[in-house]
Amino acid sequence: MKSNHVLVVPYPAQGHVIPLMDAAQRFTRKGLKVTFVNTEDSHKRVINAWSQKDDLSDMMQMVAIPDGIEPWEDRNDLGQLTESMFRAMPDKLEELINNINKTDDEKITCIIADYCMGWISKVAQKMGIRLAVFCSGSAAVMAVFMSVQKLLDDQVIDSNGVPVKDQMVQLSTNMPPMDPKQFLWACIGDPVTNKKMFDGLGLEGTVAAGVADCIICNSTVELEPETFTLFPKILPIGPLLANNEKTKQAGHFWNEDSSCVTWLDQQQFCSVIYVAFGSLTIFNQLQFEELALGLDLINRPFLWVVRPGMSGSTDHTYPNGFMDRIGTRGKIVSWAPQQEVLNHPSVACFMSHCGWNSTMEGVSNGVPFLCWPYFYDQFLDATYICDFWKTGLGLNKDDTGIVTREEIKSKVEQLIRNDKIKQNALNLHERVMASVKEGNSSSKNLSNFVDWVKKGKDNAPDNNNSQSSC
Ligand code: UDP
Repeated sequence: MKSNHVLVVPYPAQGHVIPLMDAAQRFTRKGLKVTFVNTEDSHKRVINAWSQKDDLSDMMQMVAIPDGIEPWEDRNDLGQLTESMFRAMPDKLEELINNINKTDDEKITCIIADYCMGWISKVAQKMGIRLAVFCSGSAAVMAVFMSVQKLLDDQVIDSNGVPVKDQMVQLSTNMPPMDPKQFLWACIGDPVTNKKMFDGLGLEGTVAAGVADCIICNSTVELEPETFTLFPKILPIGPLLANNEKTKQAGHFWNEDSSCVTWLDQQQFCSVIYVAFGSLTIFNQLQFEELALGLDLINRPFLWVVRPGMSGSTDHTYPNGFMDRIGTRGKIVSWAPQQEVLNHPSVACFMSHCGWNSTMEGVSNGVPFLCWPYFYDQFLDATYICDFWKTGLGLNKDDTGIVTREEIKSKVEQLIRNDKIKQNALNLHERVMASVKEGNSSSKNLSNFVDWVKKGKDNAPDNNNSQSSC
């Protein structure tokens, strides 16, 4: 029997759940039926933080399966989480699909799995269900996952995923240089954790990318032309943004404090420095204080997201007298409606850790960046911003590894005065937003992808649309 029912499964992290919930809403608008499968922990957080009046289940069916982490184990230990999901989730996912297929008229016809949930390819193969992979990072990151064998053959990494030499690599001459020490499986923790990440995410992700009929990602041809030429299997459908298609921003783990939007309404046009470092970045107390003192020194309005846990296990302490000195010039919130903030006319620039979602959100709104990458692909994204698109400046650390208050003040001043960077950001915004207009590249890719799911065709679309199912 024909069915349009897909299962969407994100990795249990904020930067994966938000874009996949956005993508899932686009799928439903185009006529697919979506069951969205979070881990129980993510599910609880998403439901608790959902403040809108309507029920999330009006958009799609939200379900949860356990990640296998016991109450006494540490979910922040990513090695342990990866291993545990790999062990516990395949059976649970299979059980869920069997239950849906027994009770629902529309059987699951395709699984859309996060690129960090590669183990799903085995479930899909075992159950004879088609697989698509979704990458919440750049296409270049997906390309790394698709090049693991080449990286092994070229001895860039060893069989544990550990970089062999201390040097940058390029997958091709026009792609950005990457530091193998910042590959996902090499940058998180100690060697044992890294090995678990390499086995569970790197190797399984590579297998899934091979098994999948189709790979979709939140990017555009304009942003990464070389990567899309070299990897035609990756279909860009971005930018995924709530304000594009009137989808709702959903999937947050924390409650958004929208008082900052009221505060932004009272600020002058293009005057505010927006400072936010995503969901995972940790600052030690020294760096936290230095950032506060830098924001104090710039003497301009700023909106700063200080996430709970941003300073690790202990609560952050502001420098003496900081709150009194900044008064109403600064606004601090624990979680912002970021897409709305970046779309606000008062925002002048974005001091960011350059997570891919933040990068796409800043680019899509034409906002110049001050780049402060923390780990993983954020360094690669900062390279795109500063060296490829030329829409921002990097913040440099001093000899002791600290970004000083003077560096912060100096780079903010340089960026604010730099009309070229501002113009580049606006031009890029125009080009990127054009790609989601009806009939243009990302919009066509999304339609072709949904069509492929609906019609059950063999040939999945690629980014040349050469095998398009239209
Ligand atoms: N975000 C938000 N409010 C905040 C900070 C972040 O809504 O105060 C959202 C942001 O819009 C983005 C996601 O959280 O969609 C973070 O993803 P990203 O890839 O930028 O960083 P990660 O958290 O994965 O490091």
